[in-house]
Amino acid sequence: MLTHSLGFPRMGIDRELKKVTEAYWKGEKGEQDLLEQGAQLRVRHWEIQAGQGVDLLPVGDFSHYDHMLDTVALLGAVPARYGWEGGSVDTDTYFRMARGDAGHGGATAMEMTKWFDTNYHYIVPEFTEGQTFSLSSTKIFDELDEAVAAGYAAKPVLPGPFTFIGLGKSVPPGFDRWEHLDAIVAVYEEVLGRLSAKCAWVQLDEPLLALDLDAAVTDRFAAVYERLATAAGSAKILVATYFGGVDHHAETLLSLPVGGVHVDLVRAPEQLDAFAARLPEAMHLSLGLVDGRNVWKVDMDKALELVDRAVLAVGADRVMLAPSCSLLHTPVDLSAETGLDAQVREWMAFAVQKCAELDVLRRAAVGQDAQEELAANRAAWDARRSSPLTANAAVRERMESVNETMARRVRPYAERIVSQRERLKLPLLPTTTIGSFPQTPEIRRTRLAFKKGELAKAGYTQAMQGFIAESIEKQEQLGLDVLVHGEAERNDMVEYFGEQLDGFCFTANGWVQSYGSRCVKPPVIFGDVFRPGPMTVEWIRYAQSLTDKPVKGMLTGPVTILQWSFVRDDQPRSETCRQIALAVRDEVVDLEADGVAVIQIDEPALREGLPLRRDLWKEYLDWGVECFRLSASGVQDHTQIHTHMCYAEFNDIIEWIAAMDADVISIEASRSNMELLEAFGRFDYPAEVGPGVYDIHSPRVPPVQEMVDLLRRASKVLPVDHLWVNPDCGLKTRGWPETMEALANMVEAAAKAREIL
Ligand code: GLN
Ligand code: ZN
Repeated sequence: MLTHSLGFPRMGIDRELKKVTEAYWKGEKGEQDLLEQGAQLRVRHWEIQAGQGVDLLPVGDFSHYDHMLDTVALLGAVPARYGWEGGSVDTDTYFRMARGDAGHGGATAMEMTKWFDTNYHYIVPEFTEGQTFSLSSTKIFDELDEAVAAGYAAKPVLPGPFTFIGLGKSVPPGFDRWEHLDAIVAVYEEVLGRLSAKCAWVQLDEPLLALDLDAAVTDRFAAVYERLATAAGSAKILVATYFGGVDHHAETLLSLPVGGVHVDLVRAPEQLDAFAARLPEAMHLSLGLVDGRNVWKVDMDKALELVDRAVLAVGADRVMLAPSCSLLHTPVDLSAETGLDAQVREWMAFAVQKCAELDVLRRAAVGQDAQEELAANRAAWDARRSSPLTANAAVRERMESVNETMARRVRPYAERIVSQRERLKLPLLPTTTIGSFPQTPEIRRTRLAFKKGELAKAGYTQAMQGFIAESIEKQEQLGLDVLVHGEAERNDMVEYFGEQLDGFCFTANGWVQSYGSRCVKPPVIFGDVFRPGPMTVEWIRYAQSLTDKPVKGMLTGPVTILQWSFVRDDQPRSETCRQIALAVRDEVVDLEADGVAVIQIDEPALREGLPLRRDLWKEYLDWGVECFRLSASGVQDHTQIHTHMCYAEFNDIIEWIAAMDADVISIEASRSNMELLEAFGRFDYPAEVGPGVYDIHSPRVPPVQEMVDLLRRASKVLPVDHLWVNPDCGLKTRGWPETMEALANMVEAAAKAREIL
């Protein structure tokens, strides 16, 4: 019974890769330094995994930026704008694809988007008519040589051709990129031919199969994998799937002439039988048992039940044990976390510990001694299940009393808006911003000094009030209608609330790669979520004391807090979300009691939480939207609830967006030239919308006329008295000078639009 790892975090325990890469970009380190650091990390990570008892070690999971970009280089799929002339893709070209380069004729970076439902972002391959492909990188071969030379049983890992093409984009969009499948498979054949002599297994990742796919695509799997298996010769191909069940494609998968299939049994344990019962003689079944997406210990008793079922069906020697997916999505090593509550830490496992868990599971499954570890695992789970840290009686009791009325405003929007308008007295096309203002070095320094204890509470409060006063003054000067306090006290829209809620904890070093050299450190929700006291009221009260204009209360919504945290796995996510919703609700009610007339509850992560398969969307959206409403509906009709979402496609979820029943939703719309707004028009969206009129991702100051034109377009889609005027998103990454200019133009554009629309 082999154990294997699908991939290990790349950054290193001290984020060495981030440091050397950023230094290289700044010109402080040379290419040699960069490559050497990479090589050191690879060897160290193989050593760690092997040391924990993993049999087959991943090769090619390491990347200097992204594994999809590595595959672009491997296949020579470099877009024409980089002026690459063939041969081997060099480091410079590689990073120019990732980051763009104004120096080389201004080629823009390749697009980046979320890797399935993770917070990891990959580089989107581009496919055009007439494009050719050829083997253009030796990375995977070199790394395999390194691993073999170091004495490891190595398993090269590459994105499979279907996932590579499926996740790419056609340029122009009408082009059928599947035209290139044969040419791309030809390069894969060459790659596999070269790898096969040095390894027993090659893993091709096809997580695309966790999505709904057209038969036109799945029908091509058999022929392609026939070619690939032939090219791989004596090496066996393991087709890896993850992030969801693939039983809807079981027939396709089981018909492939490959050596094995990997299935994610953490996300979809119920799919085991669909594969185990029908597994062809020649195939291994790799069980994804250890959660590669979370920080908790595996429940060994539960995992072993699955192993036993698989063994019964196919025999121990055709079963492989693995994490559910690459460990890329977990922090590296729990032993670095000395600051965590000792009990909570006892329930956790990071990448290193997850590798060790595989070995225990294997020993237990084949009847070798694992009693001690199994007992310890059981004890940790028992303690967790009965710990007062995970179950707060007051929260439990309150959850029982949640009813449907609590998730409903008293009257519908059309009636609420009358009292809101009376109270707020806003002009047509009111202007506002999304919440944050530029986070200047001074703001960051102040927060850091407070966090480190170098600045006392009183001094910190005073400094923050200074930043708030500055932002209120600027907004008044600009003539905005609904003001914000500016969010200077928040370094992150989830962490800020997590730190004030019971049930959350924070790691010191739990970094996870987000994209390129960027890492995030998500909060961990380990217990019942409870709000001990108001979280934002003082700041908003102070801001409101400085102006006669309404200041928006500013909160992060329950789904977004859930989505951007590591979430406890001992109860359904929907339950945890409902607890967060109650905490946010209390804050909303407190803000209202303090006289706040407008409260914004941001939900930028609602869409990204969508399950991969459409038939599961409804269930998620039903509870997600209900949680938002629960958080928003404790107020009276004359209190106006706003929500905000960043760039998202709204067409296919518009009925749920409407069901959120916010009085106003602001969305990112400028880059799509208001196209994203059309979903609202088609649906006859009943409430108000603030389609962003300028892109906050760039320092460019949009001219007045451009924003007037966008508003005109918007007015063709929705009634003018349902429209707000605001930027696409928060302004925290911008500088003050461009922000002032852009907002001044925006206010002017609103004034013009009021005259002509
Ligand atoms: N209120 C937040 C801000 O302005 C919203 C950020 C977001 O949508 N991601 O920064
Ligand atoms: Zn946003």
